Amino acid sequence: MAEYANIIIDISQEKLDKAFQYRIPEQMRGALAVGMQVEVPFGSREMAGYVVGLTDTLECDAAKIKEIKAVKEGGVPIESQLIALAGWMRENYGGTMNHALKTVLPIKRKEKEKKQRFVRLLLEEGQAREQLAQFEKKRHVARARLLSALIGQGAVPYRDLTGKLGVSPQAIRALGQMGILEVEERRDYRSPYGKMERTREAVVLNEGQEEAVGRVWQDWERGIRRTYLLHGVTGSGKTAVYIELIDRAVRCGKQAIVLIPEIALTYQTVRRFYQRFGDRVSILNSKMSAGERYDQFERAKRGELDVMIGPRSALFTPFSKLGFIILDEEHEASYKSETVPRYHARETAIERARMAGASVILGSATPSIDSYHAAMRGEYTLLELKKRIGEKPLPACCVVDMREELRQGNRSILSGRLQELMEDRLSRRQQAMLFLNRRGLAGFVSCRSCGHVPKCPHCDVSLSQHGNGRLVCHYCGHEEAQPAVCPKCGSRYISGFRAGTQKIEEIVKKRFPAARVLRMDFDTTRKKDGYEQILSAFSNQEADILIGTQMIVKGHDFPNVTLVGVLAADLSLHVSDFHAAERTFQLLTQAAGRAGRGKLPGEVVIQTYSPDHYAVELARRQDYRAFYETEAAYRKMMHYPPCGHMMVMLVASRDEMTAALSAELLAKKARRAKEEGRAPGVSVIGPANAAVAKVKDVYKKVVYFKDERYGELVRVKDAVEQFVSSHREFSNVTVQFDFDPMAGF
Ligand code: ADP
Ligand code: ZN
Ligand code: ZN
Repeated sequence: MAEYANIIIDISQEKLDKAFQYRIPEQMRGALAVGMQVEVPFGSREMAGYVVGLTDTLECDAAKIKEIKAVKEGGVPIESQLIALAGWMRENYGGTMNHALKTVLPIKRKEKEKKQRFVRLLLEEGQAREQLAQFEKKRHVARARLLSALIGQGAVPYRDLTGKLGVSPQAIRALGQMGILEVEERRDYRSPYGKMERTREAVVLNEGQEEAVGRVWQDWERGIRRTYLLHGVTGSGKTAVYIELIDRAVRCGKQAIVLIPEIALTYQTVRRFYQRFGDRVSILNSKMSAGERYDQFERAKRGELDVMIGPRSALFTPFSKLGFIILDEEHEASYKSETVPRYHARETAIERARMAGASVILGSATPSIDSYHAAMRGEYTLLELKKRIGEKPLPACCVVDMREELRQGNRSILSGRLQELMEDRLSRRQQAMLFLNRRGLAGFVSCRSCGHVPKCPHCDVSLSQHGNGRLVCHYCGHEEAQPAVCPKCGSRYISGFRAGTQKIEEIVKKRFPAARVLRMDFDTTRKKDGYEQILSAFSNQEADILIGTQMIVKGHDFPNVTLVGVLAADLSLHVSDFHAAERTFQLLTQAAGRAGRGKLPGEVVIQTYSPDHYAVELARRQDYRAFYETEAAYRKMMHYPPCGHMMVMLVASRDEMTAALSAELLAKKARRAKEEGRAPGVSVIGPANAAVAKVKDVYKKVVYFKDERYGELVRVKDAVEQFVSSHREFSNVTVQFDFDPMAGF
């Protein structure tokens, strides 16, 4: 029986990032397990810690070792599983154990538990109305407004009164003193979406949906757990499939986690889960405070919930009887964490499911090349929904060549065809969406006459514009001068592309003065609920045209939208990232998928300077399979993931020279290791400046590593981490890793 335990102290403290060894008291031996929370003496105090390992080997000074004081009550095994998962994440994505632990375990803040205040009327309705009349007579406007807000209501959240209704705290206090109302506090666990109705309206699955459900359930009943890829065209009813499977699992006493990209976590989606599971569902979102998140996790741990819906971080919901993990819109880049550890929710979900004996369902209309590749190789099981619900046709798509428009003298951002169709929709009182593809406005250069975009001769990604009139590759550092005229056609119209949603709104309003226009972008959604407000206004047909960025293409159902215009489809084609074509295909397909979801058929206009690019052409034909084949062949040729793996090493320092020299040194060491046969398959590319080379006075360099085998890259990472931590020259340098990056640093 293990004599010693390795313990991480108080994970909320950044500095204590190492395990300390403690002796396990006799009576505790055999009962102590990894993941348990313990109390230990630390310095002159007593602190809480987590057991992260058990061992017989003493690794510190025998004279100084102390004993564990006590095991904390309620140390449930679910924590062990999450800690084991943290270990796996640390291993596969780099960073420290502490970073990993903080990611998987919710940290209890010292802050007071958040209670919500409610205001409740104490008078009978008749009395209240009399009082109201008096206030009105005396022109006590504020008091009257407050009172009328309370009449006929139960308890009204204090925040709503002072927020939306603009009632002052003084007015509330005054009415409290008059015995008209009382303020009560209660611990509020409710969902941030408030109370929802549970109708249990039964959806009858169609044939395709039945088949998908049947397939998974057949495995389930035989005790087979695996990863499924549900490829269903837009509007094919994937959510109903998830709900049905979760319902069956819940009846077997299991729980489910549903991951949804934050941006698609709308009232519409959440309501469908509420209708089936009522209060047994909860939601996480990034607007919640640490305390609110903690509350939701506590409920999950106590078994008060069956389903948790949320973005990436909901993956760590402490369910102990996990049956399914769903990743909706699994192709979304937001499933990759942007902070250390840079885990991918898909891979991490699969690992968590493996540990818990659960199945994973990845759903998308445009699966990531990575997932489809895995499905083709039989690692995942492919399920398909080929038809839209109600056999609605997919919208008709046309591509407009903007070079041709220029040649014909149309310099507007709206093509002739798109203007015509907008006119038509306005006259028929149908709605239109204009989607500006803004991804990667990072400043590539393109020719408006012929569509040419300068690319890196070594990496085949677009070169980025730098302030000094030079074009740079972010993978390998290749540089060249920015051309004054197009090297292909000689045109002088070669420059960076600039246009914002605001500009487009102006143009549209000028061209269609009678149209009611809504704009959704970072600016108009910054305030709380801004996003929901715009969506619901558009949904209520308070506007004819919705203009927006990526935000408007995700999963919304607007039955009256019969036209979708995609402006600058090229923008995402030329970001300096090997995912450029994949992102473009996804955006175009998803944008097109917004049209014609109701009774009326839809039409899509894609405006582009590269009509012949396979991502544009195959999106027009809505042929996912052909796109996959083309893209996979390209990745294979270039050894890009999933045909081989890639790791980015980010070297950062406040001193530019230190960053540069460190990156140079580490790259050189890696090249030497390759020459000496220690890492024979690994190619080392760079160093180069990071895409954003200087952030808040920190200089960033990147080195890329490629290898067919992921494990080899992990070995390189381990060696670098070891080297860096044992050499004092690196004390002012941070070195981080990103495996199979979703975008350049
Ligand atoms: P997807 O996620 O594949 O785009 P959804 O799950 O959002 O599709 O379904 C599209 C619409 O069809 C939704 O309004 C949903 O309520 C409806 N729907 C789904 N399944 C059925 C069904 N079997 N019968 C009728 N309507 C359905
Ligand atoms: Zn040109
Ligand atoms: Zn390059």
